[in-house]
Amino acid sequence: MSSTPTIGVLALQGDVREHLAALAAADAAAVPVRRPEELAGVDGLVVPGGESTTISKLAVLFGLMEPLRAAIRDGLPVYGTCAGLIMLADKILDPRSGQETFGGIDMIVRRNAFGRQNESFEARVDVRGVPGGAVDGVFIRAPWVESVGAGAEVLAEYGGHIVAVRQGRVMATSFHPELTGDHRVHELFVHAVRTGS
Ligand code: GLN
Repeated sequence: MSSTPTIGVLALQGDVREHLAALAAADAAAVPVRRPEELAGVDGLVVPGGESTTISKLAVLFGLMEPLRAAIRDGLPVYGTCAGLIMLADKILDPRSGQETFGGIDMIVRRNAFGRQNESFEARVDVRGVPGGAVDGVFIRAPWVESVGAGAEVLAEYGGHIVAVRQGRVMATSFHPELTGDHRVHELFVHAVRTGS
């Protein structure tokens, strides 16, 4: 693969623009993805933060649910933040009725676990594999990970809860690195896409 991978941002709902900017700053060619056929043109994909129930509904409506599940099974690298983490969980503890996920990480997540919108906060979080010390974690109605299966690796914990996970080529954080000027988590993902690690 060329040294500049093309990374899509799932552009159904959520903070798409912020991820496009963070990926560009992390030396990827960043493009929005809305249609199933666009998946073939990307080396990796970001599932943004937003509202997982809405992303789930729109993914079904846009015919993306099954193609994206298949792409993840076939090894597409994917990074999800917040609602994106929820979308990458094999199981949600408290789904809205009809809420589906893409899956990819053997974990159980609890939505809105850190509280409501007005209980949003920032905290320093050490993320395994990110050099240079802790990152600023922005938590907005954030989920946490209740438990992970044997195949999943915990990358970060905060307040006794798992907030970053990786399984193979799929990674996810409860918090939003795309909302800070610090692009090290995106660089970690871009590096994994570039090197196939
Ligand atoms: N609570 C939201 C959800 O369930 C996620 C919030 C976010 O992405 N900032 O999808």
